Amino acid sequence: MSADVPSSHPRQGEFGFTVGARLDGTRARTGVIRTPHGEIATPAFIAVGTKATVKAVTPEAVADFGAQAVLANAYHLYLQPGSDVLDAAGGLGRFMNWPGPTFTDSGGFQVMSLGSGFKKVIDMKATTPSGSDDAVAPGKERLANVDDDGVWFKSHLNGDVHRFTPEVSMNVQHEIGADIMFAFDELTTLHNSRAYQEESLERTRLWAERCITEHFRLTDTRVGKEYQGLFGVIQGAQYEDLRRKACRDLAAMPFDGFGIGGALEKENLGTIVGWCADELPEDKPRHLLGISEPDDIFTAIENGADTFDCVSPTRVARNSAFYTQHGRFNLSGQRYKLDFTPLQAGCDCYTCTHYTRAYIHHLHKAKELLSHTLISIHNERFVVRLVDEARAAIETGTFFELKERVLGEYYAGNPDPQGA
Ligand SMILES: [Zn+2]
Repeated sequence: MSADVPSSHPRQGEFGFTVGARLDGTRARTGVIRTPHGEIATPAFIAVGTKATVKAVTPEAVADFGAQAVLANAYHLYLQPGSDVLDAAGGLGRFMNWPGPTFTDSGGFQVMSLGSGFKKVIDMKATTPSGSDDAVAPGKERLANVDDDGVWFKSHLNGDVHRFTPEVSMNVQHEIGADIMFAFDELTTLHNSRAYQEESLERTRLWAERCITEHFRLTDTRVGKEYQGLFGVIQGAQYEDLRRKACRDLAAMPFDGFGIGGALEKENLGTIVGWCADELPEDKPRHLLGISEPDDIFTAIENGADTFDCVSPTRVARNSAFYTQHGRFNLSGQRYKLDFTPLQAGCDCYTCTHYTRAYIHHLHKAKELLSHTLISIHNERFVVRLVDEARAAIETGTFFELKERVLGEYYAGNPDPQGA
């Protein structure tokens, strides 16, 4: 760490993490994250509220289905309505009427992934138009370019050109005012060369130092605000030595926690999270950025992730897909027309205790918006309950029994395995 980067800030004590139980033979653990807007019992699923709303669901319903925290995207809120609007409103939580803990990502992921037209993990470095380190989705215009100081990008809304640097990201995230923020990092892909990964990792390390310096400066100058925790983001793609180096580099900096991000293949998810959990300090929380399926949840927890976010429950709900203990199904099928049972038998959510598959099938066919709301509530509850059960099972030492039962039921004999 450079000598001019501060080693700590006196207000960091306003944020905290305590480890609870550990599961023998694994890196799984329970814990509590303390924020100015309440505590998060971990492992915890963080509901995604990209544009300061969990899509189609009121904050009261979000609390009711058991989410402990909401994660919004700095990139989207910077472009619309503008982070100054959230600052004037008194911060993200007050703006969206969510009283609990909040997260924002740094904006880097959206800047770079939307910028290249790929959904995930692609780097935007402008080298040669067709070089292996210059990946753009077929038919897409390059909308973002990375340099050592930051990223130029075009708004996906209107094509306006904007610049994100570590300092801009910190200012935007301070204005948004979430309890947990992430340092600005460069997103790479599995397609990048080893040499490029090394170069990018060094850029992300230097950006992390600049984020810390700017975060502490803003904490001092924006008086009267609650302390916001800052997490460093671990990159390094699929390379063990790079991931471990990134962890050691960032662990030496005064971050309040860490995000594990970037290029992750599903098959490597547990291995990579495990490398990071080995290297990162035990007394800081670890967030896994963006997972998708129930098996990922068990893998992440088992390998030491404390929190994770996932857009799938609401995203698939808008395509009328719903989760059950027997897998994911799609309510558009005619077989649901006269099915007067709940989405999932025995589910305690608002949707399942009040509505039938036949009714929601009808809403979906009639293109009524309430179908999005009702399926989203059920799907979010499904994932929250799964993580709650996993947390309890770490404490009672029954995690592997739970995993075997849940995944056995979920992936066995599903006649509609796509469900979307
Ligand atoms: Zn339900």
